[in-house]
Amino acid sequence: MGNQISWRRCQKCEGFFFSGNQSQGACAGGGTHDASKGGFYEVSVGDGSKPVSIVPTGYTIPGTEGGWRWCKKCQGLFFTTNPSGVCPADHKAHDDSGSAHHELFVAHSYALGQALWRRCNKCQVLFYSGNKTQGVCPSGGSHDANANKPYIALYDYLRFDTGEIAFDNGVSITGAYYGYMRPTGGYWFGGHFHNGLPIPYDVSAMMAVKSSSGKVFTFTHKLSLGGWGGDQDGSWSISGTNPAIASAWDDLKKDDHVAWDAQANCDFGVLWSDIKSAIGTITEVIGIVGAALA
Ligand SMILES: [Zn+2]
Ligand SMILES: [Zn+2]
Ligand SMILES: [Zn+2]
Repeated sequence: MGNQISWRRCQKCEGFFFSGNQSQGACAGGGTHDASKGGFYEVSVGDGSKPVSIVPTGYTIPGTEGGWRWCKKCQGLFFTTNPSGVCPADHKAHDDSGSAHHELFVAHSYALGQALWRRCNKCQVLFYSGNKTQGVCPSGGSHDANANKPYIALYDYLRFDTGEIAFDNGVSITGAYYGYMRPTGGYWFGGHFHNGLPIPYDVSAMMAVKSSSGKVFTFTHKLSLGGWGGDQDGSWSISGTNPAIASAWDDLKKDDHVAWDAQANCDFGVLWSDIKSAIGTITEVIGIVGAALA
């Protein structure tokens, strides 16, 4: 079902709510939620038949949590695993009928989005804890995060991924890798590979994202996989911030041409020449993860 970009922060109750319906939902601060000063956040949704994630479908990334649903009464996002939620619409339980399944990042990588979103222990909604006020809780008083884990709300990002890869030429290696970039320059690059053969292999993985003005941002990683008797699985997760992404953001959003290549026991130079021939005219190369290649 793709992404929804109508999730906002309410400045009266600090709750995370869906503003794309005619009703802005009942607010514990009185009346309906008020997003007039908040940004737009992007959230991935499914049809409810299986969990979906704000990371690419099919990948398990340590640090995501399912069980989050939209409440049709208050429009808020709440945690269904605890039965004790309180809805500001009627002070009864939230109602997740008709909701898609949402999975939230637990904040292990602040570069990706805005952290300091927390779950209220009293009403079970996701709320923004980064302001001096902790909002208004339908259970009374302000929301209570009680130092539970912070979540990340992603807003405005570019996502790129390889999908599932299986190496050919008799090399029985499978895996996938993926990344994100954000307008503030934040990035994340990660993936996993599995070696099905008895002998160890090194896997070199490279991703390149080209902007409309021809600037290419590269992400590279080399992974050593054991053979039989060794560790045949490997994964990586690298994040940071690079101002070059922020300054090229408008051009990246206009046209993000993506190319990638991954091979066993291979230099990055070989991958780079494959990618260069696929990606067309290049004006500048910027190494975001790993060095830039000429
Ligand atoms: Zn509100
Ligand atoms: Zn509700
Ligand atoms: Zn609350």
